[in-house]
Amino acid sequence: MKEQGKSVVIFSGGQDSTTCLYWAMNRYKEVECITFNYGQKHSVELEQAKKICDYENIKQTVIDISFLNTIVESALTSNGNVNEINDKGLPASFVPNRNQLFITMAHAYAQKIGAETLVTGVCQTDYSGYPDCRQEFIFDIQKATNLGSDSKIVIRTPLMYLTKAETFELAETEKCLERVITLSHTCYNGERDVLYEWGFGCDDCPACELRKKGFYEFKESKNVSIN
Ligand SMILES: [Zn+2]
Repeated sequence: MKEQGKSVVIFSGGQDSTTCLYWAMNRYKEVECITFNYGQKHSVELEQAKKICDYENIKQTVIDISFLNTIVESALTSNGNVNEINDKGLPASFVPNRNQLFITMAHAYAQKIGAETLVTGVCQTDYSGYPDCRQEFIFDIQKATNLGSDSKIVIRTPLMYLTKAETFELAETEKCLERVITLSHTCYNGERDVLYEWGFGCDDCPACELRKKGFYEFKESKNVSIN
């Protein structure tokens, strides 16, 4: 049975947030998406996010935070190499304070529309070196944003302790595996020419490698064939 109330999903169009969107749609009466345009090198992910929302008839609000480029350095938004590690030992694709901004703004939006829940696909298991994806950070920002606005919004993180393989498994459980594979976009290089078993991508960047590895682990664990 569906839980009452509204939920806001922080939705990028990637595998994780797409799985979270279907997870939320299966649980909440009303679901809306909030998508951040932070001047990603490729607009493919944003285009896929819009397609998925249109397809599922979900209201999507796109927030332009491209000003982020003027204050932070990240290979995701500049010409740096996404495979490198930065001076602090973090992946070059790390965008400082990104999740903090996302959650703060989505929390404000949730207050505006009266949503009780915020859903985000952050995950600390296949820890890719992003400190703002850890449960400890989510607990603290939930507390801070609620304190700062006298709200009681709950941040739910269905993927927090799942491996990529288990995220594929969750997609299967939530009956959205095929959509996650064909519609969601993760590739850092914005490639969508070739459809592999695990989805579209360049088959080379860290995001594609993680997705591919997770898919085959999932497939092996299920011992099923997926066309
Ligand atoms: Zn790729």
